[in-house]
Amino acid sequence: MMIDDTFIRLGVFFLVLVVMIGLEIRSPARQLPKSTKLPIVSKSKAQIIRLLGNYGITIISAVVARLLLPVGLVGVAVFSTDHDWGIFNLIPIPSWLTIILSLLLLDLLIYWQHRLFHEIPLLWKLHRVHHADPHVDSSTGLRFHPLEIVASLLIKALAIFMLGIPAVAVILFEVLLNGFAIFNHANIRLPHRIESVARRFIMTQILHRIHHSQRVDENNCNYGFSVIWWDHLFLSYTDKSTKLDSKIELGLAEYPDAKQNTHLLGLLMMPFKRNE
Ligand SMILES: [Zn+2]
Repeated sequence: MMIDDTFIRLGVFFLVLVVMIGLEIRSPARQLPKSTKLPIVSKSKAQIIRLLGNYGITIISAVVARLLLPVGLVGVAVFSTDHDWGIFNLIPIPSWLTIILSLLLLDLLIYWQHRLFHEIPLLWKLHRVHHADPHVDSSTGLRFHPLEIVASLLIKALAIFMLGIPAVAVILFEVLLNGFAIFNHANIRLPHRIESVARRFIMTQILHRIHHSQRVDENNCNYGFSVIWWDHLFLSYTDKSTKLDSKIELGLAEYPDAKQNTHLLGLLMMPFKRNE
């Protein structure tokens, strides 16, 4: 069971990542901005340094999460089911309904978690590491400070435990959340016909890039990672940006310098430093 779910999760993760990287190389929506350039290196070298930082912090965060919770969120789900703990283990409802409700509730939780990471200054210090990336691509979708990953892991574990969410729903949710995060950060633009239909249901790349705008009013919109209905329900949805998708200034104005914003150590230290 454990081996199977790791295999499924990693399999889908790498599949989505490879497909998105392929599409980004073939037809990128946007070019690397000047701010990613280090003065002494070429554009391609600057991109390599940026990617090393983004994937480096991804690997560190994944290792920290494993060390903190070796059984993973699936282990928490198995534990609460085995001990008949959590609301879903106390109320007799069909398992298909439990799975649907679990997915909805976990997605709602992630919406609010994301929103609070923007609204509470201490949490914003951590989430800023994700938003400081001056370019948004599939690697940005994985770039989160280890402490944000730890906080998110504990919040999810507590919810799984208290609600008694079954393991299968946890696996499904993790696969979907990871897949959507890579998908909606990808530096691509879906064909217009597909995009105009897709954006009625899911957070497309164009909608999510508005969330990565340097403008605070745009940055505080479109918190959803997968579906758009939480943003509609809690009045944070927008499909309008002041600039065209190709012209939106991404990242954070207070982190214009590639030196503190692309190197792994700079990313790890970012929450603890005053932004110059
Ligand atoms: Zn955000």
